[in-house]
Amino acid sequence: MTVKLSTLPPVEIGDTTGFVRLHRRELDLVQPVVASHGEHRSRRILVVEVGTGESRGWGECGAPDDASYTGETADAAAAFLADVSPAALAGRSSLTATMVRSLVNAIDSDACSRHPMAVAALETAVLDAQLRAARTAFESLFGTTPKRAAAAGATLGNVASNTADASSMIDLVVRHALEAVSAGYSRLKLKIGPGLRTTELVRQLRAVVAGDVVLLGDANGSYGNDDVRHVASLGDLGLDIVEQPFAPHDTASHQALVSTGTIRVALDEGVRSAADALDALANHECTDVTLKPARFGYLACLEALDKLADHGAGAWIGGMFDSGVARWANVRLASHPSVTLASDIGASDRYWVHDLSEPVTANAGLVAVPGVRRPGLSGVPLDA
Ligand SMILES: [Mg+2]
Repeated sequence: MTVKLSTLPPVEIGDTTGFVRLHRRELDLVQPVVASHGEHRSRRILVVEVGTGESRGWGECGAPDDASYTGETADAAAAFLADVSPAALAGRSSLTATMVRSLVNAIDSDACSRHPMAVAALETAVLDAQLRAARTAFESLFGTTPKRAAAAGATLGNVASNTADASSMIDLVVRHALEAVSAGYSRLKLKIGPGLRTTELVRQLRAVVAGDVVLLGDANGSYGNDDVRHVASLGDLGLDIVEQPFAPHDTASHQALVSTGTIRVALDEGVRSAADALDALANHECTDVTLKPARFGYLACLEALDKLADHGAGAWIGGMFDSGVARWANVRLASHPSVTLASDIGASDRYWVHDLSEPVTANAGLVAVPGVRRPGLSGVPLDA
């Protein structure tokens, strides 16, 4: 049954019955992750919990521990949320997720641009609380029938190697790729960029991975504007999609790459909202759309997906090394029929020794969607 967002009943955060709480948890990684300033063996997760008279809702903040992604860190997000959310939400007798951004903006007019992931987490927690109070599944908000399962991509990037030997590093990535393919994943995502032996890596991967497995290279904006031909040549070697090849706002290079027609192009850091992503598509800066609910919020992503059906472009849901709290929400968003490519929703045990929530499990590269009978959006922390 389809439910309109505008008809979802508001919730109340009463002075005595309601609350906004922040939770920090440290999760151990199955494999170490290389970041710009060293190797991580765990990741700190930030989750917002909203308690109302009728329900509790959860929203995970995707901001990483360091500022290398978009500048927003988990510590800054937590400090911001601790400061702003009580004043924005407490004592509201009639609160909806669609009100959250304007309530936050009324306190800090710059909040949505400085702390997009913190604001998105707060909005998600309120939306989750609304859905649970109304015993309604998030998928009911789709204007269309959800898929019963969502295709998951496996991320190979950020694989740490104890050796400085580049050949060994490539061997390791190839081995992980073969393991992921044998587990049924149909899309592999790897980190690419100058100095990462990308040409050799793509060549070796494509030599052992079947042509129908999508290879996606995430460059995190590391190529310069004189690298257009080089990035295009990766398409000839078998890289299907490149994510954020050039610096954010290097419109000309992205358009030049799209015009070569040799490789599909998506943006990540270069778009600040779901609406931006659709604008970039119309402006021929990309051929496909990555929707990151951790940055854009689920409501904006949903709106964009409803519009995408008219564009004929591919789309997938981008992740942020999420715990099951956000991973489950992303699985549900990825069940929208306009999500045509595998999303960053791989099984929890690829990332975490113990997930924060019930783990996400994949079978032959597909994750079963919780289904219309399960109210809410986010995964629930097991220690809640
Ligand atoms: Mg990316």
